[in-house]
Amino acid sequence: MIKVTFPDGAVREFALGTTGTTIVEGISKSLAKKTVAMRWNGELADLSDVLDADGKIEFVLRDDPAALELIRHDAAHVLAEAVQELWPDTQVTIGPVIENGFFYDFYRAEPFSEDDLRVIEKKMEEIVDRGAEFTKEVWDREEAKKAFSAKGEQFKVELIDAIPDDQQLKIYKQGQWFDLCRGPHMRSTKDVGKAFKLTKVAGAYWRGDSNREVLSRIYGTAWAGKDQLDAHLHMIEEAEKRDHRKIGQEMDLYHFQHEAQGSVFWHPKGFVMYNQMEAYIRRRLNASGYKEIKTPQLLDNKLWEKSGHWQKFRDGMFVVPDEIPSMEEGKPIVSMDANLLALKPMNCPAHVQVFNQGIKSYRDLPLRLAEFGCCHRNEAHGALHGLMRVRQMTQDDAHIFCRIDQIQAETEKFCALLDSVYEDMGFTEVRILLATRPETRAGDDSVWDLAEKSLGDALSATGRKFEIAEGEGAFYGPKLEFHLKDAIGRSWQCGTLQLDFVMPERLDASYVAEDGSRQRPVMLHRAILGSLERFLGMMIESYAGRMPLWLAPVQVVVATIVSDADDYAQEVVADLRAKGIRAEVDTRNESINYKVREHSVGRVPFIFVAGRREAEEKTVSIRQLGSQGQTVKPVDEAIGELVRDVTPPDLKRKAA
Ligand SMILES: [Zn+2]
Ligand SMILES: [Zn+2]
Repeated sequence: MIKVTFPDGAVREFALGTTGTTIVEGISKSLAKKTVAMRWNGELADLSDVLDADGKIEFVLRDDPAALELIRHDAAHVLAEAVQELWPDTQVTIGPVIENGFFYDFYRAEPFSEDDLRVIEKKMEEIVDRGAEFTKEVWDREEAKKAFSAKGEQFKVELIDAIPDDQQLKIYKQGQWFDLCRGPHMRSTKDVGKAFKLTKVAGAYWRGDSNREVLSRIYGTAWAGKDQLDAHLHMIEEAEKRDHRKIGQEMDLYHFQHEAQGSVFWHPKGFVMYNQMEAYIRRRLNASGYKEIKTPQLLDNKLWEKSGHWQKFRDGMFVVPDEIPSMEEGKPIVSMDANLLALKPMNCPAHVQVFNQGIKSYRDLPLRLAEFGCCHRNEAHGALHGLMRVRQMTQDDAHIFCRIDQIQAETEKFCALLDSVYEDMGFTEVRILLATRPETRAGDDSVWDLAEKSLGDALSATGRKFEIAEGEGAFYGPKLEFHLKDAIGRSWQCGTLQLDFVMPERLDASYVAEDGSRQRPVMLHRAILGSLERFLGMMIESYAGRMPLWLAPVQVVVATIVSDADDYAQEVVADLRAKGIRAEVDTRNESINYKVREHSVGRVPFIFVAGRREAEEKTVSIRQLGSQGQTVKPVDEAIGELVRDVTPPDLKRKAA
């Protein structure tokens, strides 16, 4: 007999060799009907697994969030079967679960087209309807290789060879079709349901190696129900409409080009936004006791060795020889034996250098050093994505050097500032994760205890809800992650606060304590926006380009209806500019409708229309972006209102 513990704590005995299926069926028919898998001692497992020792059982129902991963995994198997049924000469490779769905890579002379996807979906539905049971078998290695060779599946044979000898070779069957797989799976293909859609095809290399075969990848998304699928597809559609790369072009904000991959060319309009954002953060930091510094771009690799980046992060750095390049024809440009410098991938070690100047006393702490640090990271070309993933980024970075007993107060202050900044940006939903000690870590457990507690206490003391991300902290300390929800429900990790016990040690930062002893400060790495580039990209998408007025590159365009109003329009623009409003004039010989349409595409929040009558009466007809009507106001009144509205939120508060 074995003892099985249920989630409510009840313990019951079962015959050795019983299965999850037997147990759930013994409890109730209706529960059994909804249960697609189980957790055995915390691990997801096949419901049909034989239980051969005491343990804890939890049933996974099909509508549990935990079942989503299984639905997607099983859908990948169904996709592979469908493809091979339709095109038997196709070889299968791998098909993992990804965010919101799954993909499967196939080897085939002709890559799949978008048109194939609908055909494959039909076949997948057929397979779901067949409801073939998923059954697991453990195969002998040679037997498995023979079976896959016989099917012409060379990639699977290669995968088997890569599995360590001490690991079981598991095969999952669904009807006649089978695949090499770690599992677990749900009960049958029926459990996949029909809330799935194949979304796109792409090329991929076998094992990500550009010297190997080119595969055809099919992406899909799968959900528990139709409503969730529809919501997701709608979100994707919205996201495409809001793509910052498209809007960035329409608004003429910036561009990228081949010669500077992953580095932004900010255009005048985009750089207005960038500068406004930087100025805003600078004001907030100044008012919160930070001191701004600027540190070098290029630093000797000896410093990176000391900080540990050279050993751990070098493949993410741009390394430059410290020598004058040769101009001699035919000779190598660099000798390769000069000292090496690296473009900084982060600002932290440089900030410790500033801290280390002169002797610091406990009275100097906390010391908060801020920098709009321009950092370079050597990301692969394929990983770059508009403003969201760049190689040159500017962080709203700061490091707080403090004593351990100051961590909680500093964390509370930081969270208050962060909340206020996010609110000013229009984000009110913030999810907080507290990432705790990982298995391999530096520092004593007593220090970790105190650090984790300080972070948790700071959040609790200020009434913030947070989730624990067990073991996800950095090796040098625990951290907080702040995730924002945007206008279409997507989550973005922006803010971070990371405790660091290691870098002050490595770079020999110290202060004189009250008792005269030398102590190590704790270092808090913290950012609110993250990178300015990415945050602006996220703002553009969340607002669909209709930025808050204070950030809008052009706040108002004065557009004429007739050339008789040209002089008046120029006067109005001059008045607007004199009041600090970003105004442009449009006196082109085009119809007013044409002008309005064009400035709407450029997301200009206000258009002041000026015709003969407005010029005579000193008024403007105001059109607001996104609304149909227009209101006529005396020009002074219109300008006065705008002056109030364009004021950045922090300055508005100050004035109030
Ligand atoms: Zn599988
Ligand atoms: Zn840092």
